[in-house]
Amino acid sequence: MNTQQKVRKIRVLTNMDIFTFARNSRIDVVELDRLLTSGECSKRMEHDVNHFATKLGLCPECLERLIHQGGCISCLCGWSRC
Ligand SMILES: [Zn+2]
Repeated sequence: MNTQQKVRKIRVLTNMDIFTFARNSRIDVVELDRLLTSGECSKRMEHDVNHFATKLGLCPECLERLIHQGGCISCLCGWSRC
């Protein structure tokens, strides 16, 4: 899943508008708009979107719900962090 698809999915899942998403994920709304229309994305933005997904309790790779296990968080897709 690329960053553009992730942003779209998170916005649907959380019912967030573009301004709220930009504010919560610390991304400039102009940059976010550029990402959604052209798919243009910096490494920094990619990182911020992934970080925001994790904050929401979602896997940064596939956006499924993360599982908490003994101090670590993991996902069925294989992603994990301790
Ligand atoms: Zn996953």
